[in-house]
Amino acid sequence: MNFLEEKIQADGVIKPGNILKVDGFLNHQIDIGIMRQIADEIKQRFCGVKVDRILTIEASGIAIATLVGDLYHVPVVFAKKSVTANSTDEKYVAKAYSFTHKSENQVLVSKPYIKAGENVLIVDDFLAEGEAAHALIDIVRQAGGKVAGIAVCIEKGQQNGGKMLREEGYRLESIAIVDSMDWESQTIRFRAKN
Ligand code: 5GP
Repeated sequence: MNFLEEKIQADGVIKPGNILKVDGFLNHQIDIGIMRQIADEIKQRFCGVKVDRILTIEASGIAIATLVGDLYHVPVVFAKKSVTANSTDEKYVAKAYSFTHKSENQVLVSKPYIKAGENVLIVDDFLAEGEAAHALIDIVRQAGGKVAGIAVCIEKGQQNGGKMLREEGYRLESIAIVDSMDWESQTIRFRAKN
């Protein structure tokens, strides 16, 4: 097991409905030490890949995206899930169904914050069905940018997002990949040789 799999094993709580709760270090309280390790690992896995900008989605992607952006010394942008009254910029808009909230979200990024020709690394906390990732890919395309890759902390390999993105040809790096989990016994299996 790698450091993140060990942390999930120690602190993660499996909830009914195929939900992994990691509020103790990623989704509510943030363990900066683990987040730094994840960011370092992402940078290492994308060694040699040109990255001009990091793109994530609010809220839980922001912490890891910020640390990755710091390593690359590039701007970090988070897509918003609702229109804010004080923003008058034109927006790129995409749609994503939320597996955890069971609702369709609009995903918005103000046009000045992604530029044509940029290599954009998409970063997020979880990958499940790939809805959020596909919405961010759509926004990068609308902006005329290029997806440099997709980096996630935890991929739920029992859902379809990872398989789809890899089949579509995206370079996807997931620091921990859950292959199966059972809430009654609180057991979790990770993909070997990730
Ligand atoms: P997707 O769009 O790939 O279906 O789901 C990814 C998004 O849903 C992530 O941004 C994350 O916030 C949330 N998510 C999906 N599954 C889980 C889960 O098991 N646990 C937590 N904490 N969040 C999840």
